[in-house]
Amino acid sequence: MRLTDDRYAGERSQFELALRMIRHEARTRTIRQCTGLSDDRIRKLYSRYFRDSGLTEIKRRRGKSPRQVQRYVKNPANQLQATTLVALFCAGMLVRIDEDDNVHACWPRPDVEFGHRLCRAYETYLVLHDDARLNFEWAWNLLHCISYNDELYLAECAYCHGRYVQDSYALDDGTCPTCETDTTSGTLAGHENNVPEE
Ligand SMILES: [Zn+2]
Repeated sequence: MRLTDDRYAGERSQFELALRMIRHEARTRTIRQCTGLSDDRIRKLYSRYFRDSGLTEIKRRRGKSPRQVQRYVKNPANQLQATTLVALFCAGMLVRIDEDDNVHACWPRPDVEFGHRLCRAYETYLVLHDDARLNFEWAWNLLHCISYNDELYLAECAYCHGRYVQDSYALDDGTCPTCETDTTSGTLAGHENNVPEE
């Protein structure tokens, strides 16, 4: 009896994750990796809950995730959003950042819990950025790229000492996207000004 309950709970969690990821327009391959469900079951879930329900704005993406790291650093806005995502991955314990700012993956391989944590991080990111420039697949790819410490790394800002996502092959002028956009937006900058006076 207990075993059946556990299995039922496990399957329910798999299905919930699949639906959550389909809503974010994750690719079938990504959903399969996290849920362990077959492509066929994912297709059936999609058609049962989305295609036949009139929720046609949700697209199902096929093929591989995008891989170019340029997307994360091509301008300060994208760079700031990528940095937000990495901070959220860290808060969700998907990655760990050591004292040398190297990023370590905390999950040996994707599973249901990993998928739910990734969805939670991505949903928080959507709340924080009205003009989200990175879709779910870009977030998924960022999580992997930053964990390799190869093409992307965390640089330290010479002005505010905050960390930000940077391209390993780009010339880094030591300015984080927040300080870079300080004069134009100023929304997240000026932490010093917000410190309460003694
Ligand atoms: Zn800065």
